[in-house]
Amino acid sequence: MPYAIPVGLVVLALVLAGLMPGSVRSRLLHRLPEAAEEYFVVSRVPMMRGPTRITFRDVVILAEHARTVSYVRNYRGKWAVVRRKVGFTKDQIDLEIEQLLGGRVELSPLSGMWLLRMSFGEAVWLSVLVVYLWIGGRQTWRVRGERRYWAYGGVVLAAWALVGIVVWPIVAELVASVRAEWTLSAALYVTAATFYLAASAVAVYVFWQDLRLRCRQCLHRLRMPVEDGVTGSMVVDPSTEATVCIYGHGTRIVGRWQDTWTPAGSYWEELLKASAR
Ligand SMILES: [Zn+2]
Repeated sequence: MPYAIPVGLVVLALVLAGLMPGSVRSRLLHRLPEAAEEYFVVSRVPMMRGPTRITFRDVVILAEHARTVSYVRNYRGKWAVVRRKVGFTKDQIDLEIEQLLGGRVELSPLSGMWLLRMSFGEAVWLSVLVVYLWIGGRQTWRVRGERRYWAYGGVVLAAWALVGIVVWPIVAELVASVRAEWTLSAALYVTAATFYLAASAVAVYVFWQDLRLRCRQCLHRLRMPVEDGVTGSMVVDPSTEATVCIYGHGTRIVGRWQDTWTPAGSYWEELLKASAR
């Protein structure tokens, strides 16, 4: 059953999402209510030696004293998100916040900041998927018959991505639950992010090894490895291992210098061509 893996992964992601407590789920679905031109991200314009990020104290000042905005939230410890009150212009908000915080600030519409609103896990897996699309797209461009094979790989990888995206908020929530000085919690965050990246790399490796061992036509796992050549000899007759599809679709040959897939059809065509000569 070639589809057992993606189905299993999707079920795993759904179970994880169903079991997680509400605080983690809100982190997963953390999207702020978005309406263009209503919400703004406030960031400081860096000065010679001044602060470059909006601190929690700034957010408290804005929440207590700003009269042009109604909604103030700290965002990722670096920005503030504010909502324009009806009847005020962006310039008025700008002016008031600059007066309250004592420094120049910049307001960018939240709608244009979708990259910032992506979580770390989403960013990691989106880039993995983009790289796969690039590789698979080039392959299907060259070999027409393998479209289904690369599409299958895309489905499996998307299922892995789903699990990865669900797991990240759990990691982030665990790190956030540790009460410590900000230097320590920053170090914890970096450590957690590194482990997450390493785990994602392992997942991609497992995925790739599984995909390469599948028949390009029927997607079943290849069987019956046959060793050939001399082990240890690198140039004259390097050892290769051939695995075949048990339904007779083709052969994959792996050696030190090669990793090729030969469809059965083209093999017979080659033979016929050779005998016709
Ligand atoms: Zn096959």
